[in-house]
Amino acid sequence: MSDTIFSKIIRREIPANIVYEDDLALAFKDIQPVAPIHIIVIPKKPIPKLDEATLEDQVLLGHLLLIVQKIAEQMGLTNGYRVVINNGDDGGQTVDHLHVHLLGDRPMRWPPG
Ligand code: 5GP
Repeated sequence: MSDTIFSKIIRREIPANIVYEDDLALAFKDIQPVAPIHIIVIPKKPIPKLDEATLEDQVLLGHLLLIVQKIAEQMGLTNGYRVVINNGDDGGQTVDHLHVHLLGDRPMRWPPG
């Protein structure tokens, strides 16, 4: 049910440009970047979307954001960046494995499309 392209990346069944990994999470470059820096951060636990996270995932969710912070620092995003979680159809989610987008190295507009 929860086997997605991201699960295949975790299992190294398809290639990805991985920039960070630990026991709980993986981060890699987006295949179709919408900013000069576009990183996807995922939990290894296959939570399909933010709506399906539970209290049990509280620490894991915070962990993902601290990974974003770490990668942003490593990539020199000292002037800011954007963090996005698309949830469900209206949120524009296309891969059913919870993920956090880190977008940077250009000014972002508001509101997003
Ligand atoms: P969503 O639209 O679900 O929030 O974001 C999914 C993201 O995953 C998209 O930005 C898309 O470009 C990216 N993506 C989809 N398939 C692959 C893939 O096979 N490899 C990588 N690196 N990124 C992917």
